[in-house]
Amino acid sequence: MAHRNTVPWVCWRGSNSSVISTEELTPLDENASKRVLLLARSGGNREQLVTHLQRRYEVIEPDEAALSLAPFDLAVVETTSFWQWRQHLMEAKRREEPVFLPVMLVLSQRDVRHKLKAFWDVVDEFVVAPVNRSEFAERAAMLLRTRRLALTQRAHLAYLVNHDRATDLPNKHLFMDRLINAVRDAAVLDTKLYMMVIHIPLARILKSLGHHGLERAAIACSVRLKAVLAEELSLARLTTEEWGLIPRPGTPLDVVIELCRRIQKLAEEPLMVLGEHIHVSPRIGIGIYPDDASNAANTLDCAIAALSQTKAEQPVFYSRTVQHQALRHIRTEARLHQALDEAQFELWYQPQVRLSDRQQVGVEALIRWRLPGGALVSPKDFMAVAESTGLIRDIDRWVLDRACAAMHRWRNEHDAPKRISVNVSTEDIKAADFAEVVVRILDQYQLPPPTLELELTETTLFEISADNLAKLNTLREYGVSVAIDDFGTGYSSLSYLHRLPITTLKIDKAFVDDVTHNLTNQAITRTIVWLAKNFNLEVVAEGIETVAQARYLKSLEVHTGQGFLYGHPAPEALFRR
Ligand code: C2E
Ligand code: MG
Ligand code: MG
Repeated sequence: MAHRNTVPWVCWRGSNSSVISTEELTPLDENASKRVLLLARSGGNREQLVTHLQRRYEVIEPDEAALSLAPFDLAVVETTSFWQWRQHLMEAKRREEPVFLPVMLVLSQRDVRHKLKAFWDVVDEFVVAPVNRSEFAERAAMLLRTRRLALTQRAHLAYLVNHDRATDLPNKHLFMDRLINAVRDAAVLDTKLYMMVIHIPLARILKSLGHHGLERAAIACSVRLKAVLAEELSLARLTTEEWGLIPRPGTPLDVVIELCRRIQKLAEEPLMVLGEHIHVSPRIGIGIYPDDASNAANTLDCAIAALSQTKAEQPVFYSRTVQHQALRHIRTEARLHQALDEAQFELWYQPQVRLSDRQQVGVEALIRWRLPGGALVSPKDFMAVAESTGLIRDIDRWVLDRACAAMHRWRNEHDAPKRISVNVSTEDIKAADFAEVVVRILDQYQLPPPTLELELTETTLFEISADNLAKLNTLREYGVSVAIDDFGTGYSSLSYLHRLPITTLKIDKAFVDDVTHNLTNQAITRTIVWLAKNFNLEVVAEGIETVAQARYLKSLEVHTGQGFLYGHPAPEALFRR
């Protein structure tokens, strides 16, 4: 397992002489290799050469005192300037190697016989001055054509060197290059990078179906993998049986586990290879930078080491602690599906009161999960899993339906709250029919739209696309209220606030906790109230537990309060009592 820090395949593009990775090499366009460097002094042939060249090329003329040469595709040099620039030209040619960088010399008829030999080490072609225009143009064009050909060949070769022939995926060289970059990004962003190696046992196919069969199987696996992975993930084929994958730096563990789950679905359907059904079950090993290793090569080593640990059907993390978290996620996910099917969720309600007179004005619906054994699970312990697996959509639709049904019942009784708030997550809003579903449920329970409030976090509001924001706008215009939950803990840009379709700001509990004696929290709370006033929004303070907090917040003109002081979240019967 000698994964040394492999030197990535890099090459130098003649045009800018900077090191770039080969995947950035695009096919050469019409305008490529058209920069001509002219090294000639005024007076001699310079004016004539400029006129000839300018028609077809971009002409570059360095300053007399220039210390280096700008990138070029062809140099045209007069003998009088040659010795001044000789060293620079040699260096430019060396930098371009193995790609041809032509230099053309302009010299007099007399010099052809006596001097030309002295220029051989740098010069590839010559023309005799005074130059014949069409001859000069032809020679320049030929040299540039040869250069373009060389550039194209290099790009092609680089592609071959960096890609797996069978699957056309990046190979280990290019993968290491990307991994090194990803590790650097993660270091700068001060975030984690999960590095995955997927092992798909194909060696036995070689025995039964030969090399051709093995190749077909590898292609089929790659196609499946690409189909289940988002585009931005760099998938590569590292060895015959191993594929490498780098989720973007900062991708959370829950999302990584979800990816693994999608990859492992490969095992569900057999591959069709040369008319045979072949079952493959991938195993996944994961290394984490910087937790497990401090550089790219060692992170890959960890992923491979994790892979060799067991024959598990679950992804294997190099780190024991992360392995534990991952198992928890996987088990939670399995049980969440069951919870939906077996109606193990309950909706609890917490009152919201007007601080001026403690009148109940609203209620927030909060989900609870009751395990078959009777234990209650708090949303904090399953929301991340529900969100990363997409289960949240079904859960939240159930919540919305139940909450509106409850509101409908209460409106036929006495003392109904004016409004019910439900929490909505990013995934919910992304659903194409989000707005329609909300409207349909309101209709079904004959609720006026303002009786419903949707609570979203700042992160959700800034994450969602313009299309999704439009859905919120539609609902807002329809009359539904929209609150920003946990306000102040995300990263809202205040300039955005007036463009969002919102009606309410909910001050996070973290600020309320010690608002009576923490000067910073007091300043933040004052600012939020001031903002709300200016944007004409309602302010709700969350997590009020003491009379002192309530008094203080009331003095700052916070409209509404929610917290244990007024009532814990409770099942419907208890809440109504
Ligand atoms: P949230 O929407 O900010 O809800 C407020 C949380 O603070 C609730 O926790 C509530 O029980 C708790 N809380 C309220 N007053 C007090 C107090 O005075 N002291 C303390 N210590 N806590 C208080 P819960 O119910 O555990 O919910 C946690 C989070 O889970 C919610 O934060 C919300 O983001 C999410 N959530 C809850 N239900 C749903 C749901 O149906 N759908 C979605 N998408 N998310 C939900
Ligand atoms: Mg909430
Ligand atoms: Mg909150």
